[in-house]
Amino acid sequence: MINNPTFLINILTLLALLSSANVFNIDELILKLSEIYIQPFPEFSKEALYFRFPNFDNWERPEGPIKIGIQIGHWIKENPPIELKRISKTGAVISSLKEVDINYLIGSEVKNILESKGYKVELLPAVVPPEYYADAFIAIHANSTDKKVSGFMISTPFIDYSGKAFKLKDSIIESYSKYTNLQFIDEFTSNMTHYYAFNWSKYKHAIHPKTPAVILEMGNMQNQKDLLILILGYKNVAQGIAEGVDKFIKENY
Ligand SMILES: [Zn+2]
Repeated sequence: MINNPTFLINILTLLALLSSANVFNIDELILKLSEIYIQPFPEFSKEALYFRFPNFDNWERPEGPIKIGIQIGHWIKENPPIELKRISKTGAVISSLKEVDINYLIGSEVKNILESKGYKVELLPAVVPPEYYADAFIAIHANSTDKKVSGFMISTPFIDYSGKAFKLKDSIIESYSKYTNLQFIDEFTSNMTHYYAFNWSKYKHAIHPKTPAVILEMGNMQNQKDLLILILGYKNVAQGIAEGVDKFIKENY
């Protein structure tokens, strides 16, 4: 086994993680290790799904009112569990303006609007609770790319087992375009499709696969027009997201 390079790299990574996590006693070590989810199947595969959720086919929605989860990208990313250690370094900063502050400004407003419509809404930090279920989950981020690029991007998980994520995506595209006048960029990156909070096949702290989820890159912070819309027009931006979620819920539950 020691001749297996992957095995060796895993061990080295583990040692590096442990030393950086200041693990001194065995109880703490076991606790830290228990945060790491190890499964032998490809990410998002059916095998991974049934390995992690053997009763997936008999899953029933938890009782209670419709619940919407709004994840504020990069919010409270300090001291994440060891499996998500890398997220503490993420989040764009333009001059002194932080992406997380824009995400929070808009996400809180989305919460206000949806609550005024009678929904139960939870604002979630960068680390989501294990197997988090909501009837709609929206991760809110702002891009930071070439300043000539203007527009928003949105993506579902790589494979959607909720059967509803594409409907949520389409509903948000429609109302977000209308309220912000921002152009929809019909592209996505693997950072979006394999977003850690979607990736129940790799991390414990991720949504339940039955949660219809999208990640929204609301606009490009490097582009002046986009930045003005995100800050001065934050109420419109929030309205665009909230109306899309509202329409999705009404049509699907
Ligand atoms: Zn972000």
